[in-house]
Amino acid sequence: MTAPGTYLDHCASSPLRPEARIAMTAAFELTGNPSSVHADGRAARALLEAARAQVAVLAGAPLAGVTFTSGGTEANVLALRSALAAGARRLLISAIEHDCIRETALASGVDVVQIPVSREGVVDLDALDGAIAAQPMSAGPVFVALMAANNETGVIQPTREAAERVRAAGGWLHVDAVQSAGRRPSGLEALGADSLALSAHKLGGPQGIGALVAGPRTRIVRDLPGGGQEHGRRAGTQNLIGAAGFGAAAQASVIRRDLRAGRDEAATAMVRAGAIVIGAGAERLDDVLCIAAPDFASELQVMGLDLAGVRVSAGAACSSGKVQASHVLGAMGLGDLAGCAIRLSGGWSTTAEDWRTAAAAWIDLYTRLASRRRPVAA
Ligand code: PLP
Repeated sequence: MTAPGTYLDHCASSPLRPEARIAMTAAFELTGNPSSVHADGRAARALLEAARAQVAVLAGAPLAGVTFTSGGTEANVLALRSALAAGARRLLISAIEHDCIRETALASGVDVVQIPVSREGVVDLDALDGAIAAQPMSAGPVFVALMAANNETGVIQPTREAAERVRAAGGWLHVDAVQSAGRRPSGLEALGADSLALSAHKLGGPQGIGALVAGPRTRIVRDLPGGGQEHGRRAGTQNLIGAAGFGAAAQASVIRRDLRAGRDEAATAMVRAGAIVIGAGAERLDDVLCIAAPDFASELQVMGLDLAGVRVSAGAACSSGKVQASHVLGAMGLGDLAGCAIRLSGGWSTTAEDWRTAAAAWIDLYTRLASRRRPVAA
């Protein structure tokens, strides 16, 4: 349940879908460990595998390709560790990857090449070509991490074009599809990916579960020691209730709704009042809007909107509320404007009215701020 008002922070976490709630409530009735061979264990296993099948459909992957994890973070980290285990001694990542990719890569002890993005926030494919061509044999197989859509701007990345380049070099393209899954086709083939990271709570499932999805060319290593769960790739008793909710949300999210009109109408009104749309010239997720207004600090916008009953984020909200310069907006060369940007993000429960309410609240805030700044006539 969300608090009364308008919730436009789906990129941080989507409200739980009713289908997920029903599936999880039913899963609470089960007792067994999916690894037990008795009747209760088998019932738990059946539920787990049914959920895996639902996620596999969303990801366009074989059942055995889906490894449940604790979320998108763990899925991304596991992909990078698997690439290192496969001999990668240089990691190519876009400059706008989520911190879980950036920090894992930078802490890995191997070379990290950050591929720049344009001012619109789209990865530079020529720079990727250059980095692949410059990869020495000693750096092992080519590994590239490129997200499907950015979590701060909603800007969609050319993963298929990147895949052609990576494939030609015999490499591995890992795609963080955490924000695109449930919003646009995000299967292995649709994205051209060798592996995908997914997170349930971004598409209306519960928090604390996700998946690393691997295609036929990808080998996922065992990271956590312990039992042989998840085909030996991830030890520990599975989160059965979470998996049930994830599966149901994945299935429900295959039916997409078009909310671009509501988002675009809001953007037009806000721009007329003085906002700048970040990444406006690029293809973006239909229900994500990153805007900035010079001299109107992000935190003030977020707090002002919250007081007006509209919940949004300043940059990436999944970094536990810490206010720090956004590496994404920095990589886009936005300079000081980066500190004046907020993200409005809709999802499965959003209506066109939500967008209208948010735009009106923002315009009211900004107009009041601007009038206070206007010099008083003598
Ligand atoms: N990748 C992206 C693009 C994200 O936006 C997030 C969270 O916001 C994550 C990964 C991490 O996902 P999780 O919260 O499931 O660990």
